[in-house]
Amino acid sequence: MNTNKSKAAFKEAIKHIPGGVNSPVRAFNSVGGNPLFIQSAQGSKITDIDNNEYIDYVGSWGPMILGHAHPDVVEALHRTAENGTSYGAPTLMETQMAELICEMMPSIQSVRMVNSGTEATMSALRLARGYTKRDLVIKFEGCYHGHGDSFLIKAGSGALTFGTPNSPGVTKGTAIDTLTAKYNNLDSVLSLLEQYKDQVAAIILEPVTGNMGVIKPTDHFIKGLRKACTDHGTLLIFDEVMTGFRVAKGGAQELWGITPDLTTMGKIIGGGLPVGAYGGKKEIMDMLAPNGPVYQAGTLSGNPMAMAAGLTTLKLLNTTEGFYEELEEKSAFLAAGLQKNLDELNFPGVINRVGAMFTLFFTSEKEVNTFSDVMKCDTERFAKYFRLGLQGGIYSAPSQFEASFVSIAHSTEDLQKTIDKSREALEQLI
Ligand SMILES: *Cc1c(COP(=O)(O)O)cnc(C)c1O
Repeated sequence: MNTNKSKAAFKEAIKHIPGGVNSPVRAFNSVGGNPLFIQSAQGSKITDIDNNEYIDYVGSWGPMILGHAHPDVVEALHRTAENGTSYGAPTLMETQMAELICEMMPSIQSVRMVNSGTEATMSALRLARGYTKRDLVIKFEGCYHGHGDSFLIKAGSGALTFGTPNSPGVTKGTAIDTLTAKYNNLDSVLSLLEQYKDQVAAIILEPVTGNMGVIKPTDHFIKGLRKACTDHGTLLIFDEVMTGFRVAKGGAQELWGITPDLTTMGKIIGGGLPVGAYGGKKEIMDMLAPNGPVYQAGTLSGNPMAMAAGLTTLKLLNTTEGFYEELEEKSAFLAAGLQKNLDELNFPGVINRVGAMFTLFFTSEKEVNTFSDVMKCDTERFAKYFRLGLQGGIYSAPSQFEASFVSIAHSTEDLQKTIDKSREALEQLI
């Protein structure tokens, strides 16, 4: 496989872009080699500038659930662009978008559009603090909520201490307001809530994690969080930027039957354009300006192009008969094939999957349910597997600690080829 043009392009990019990329994971640092520069994408396939075609499981990190360049989305964008691309004034599409989100995720009664998942979580946290008049937030080790300062915090030493910044530029002052608990460990949360009684504004989590690889919440954990939040007057924020409209039409909250107080969204709701949103109980959302005192705004929020792509995508998800059943079938077929490879080759690994997101963990553990399980993975083995995959025409996330995404555009042929190539890669790794 020749990737000379990508190599040359990366050299050029590095001159004027930090690390040559506009988001660090794209640099392939954890798997080695150069990133591929992408020319185009269609359906389940992505093509680099050297004209190599790959079956794509990154899907722009989640948004492309319909596949790339879906004709309805492209048509909506053309139609919208001809009428101007931004007005800074209300449009009918924004109301339609809000209505549809509220219909698909019934815990949401009122919703504000923003421009990224990061903006959604930052704003939801400010709102939670404004509403509860409390400062602290509890997040979980291994969960990712974008790059807002409050979330770039790692656990301090000892289970019950305040966090410390995990990026220079995040102040100690910010870090002391973020507490870190352990995912799938309810006790770690309950003890923080006891220790910081009446001070915790919100608990935020990825209800199904994707950003440390796919991990499901136990019923005990997720139901316990809901109850603990209610008991302590703390808001429960589900960060469904990745899982929303992905693991089910109504997100992880539908699958686990939990009603969060606030939900953050992104990725799929933009249909491939930059969009985020946060919403929840009307009483809480009414604290936002201009109704209430909590300030949040955006020049391009609710942008017509973004609404056109997002609304077209969500409408298709909402109205296509059997969409999520078909997506589940495809995803289950792929996961079963990958599992069969592991079993037949007696290759150590764990596949975690919820709907159309999954991770193959390179580990000799029997299960992966926690951040410390994830940390036991063999990242070097993963990196080799990743590179073999690329050579076989499979484009998946260049990190062990990410999810892969199946779209409705993946054909049985694509999935079978992926299973076969995965087997070849595993055989080479033995
Ligand atoms: C991607 C992601 C974010 C951040 O969204 P951006 O659009 O990249 O800012 C936040 N939370 C979760 C769970 C995500 O997967």
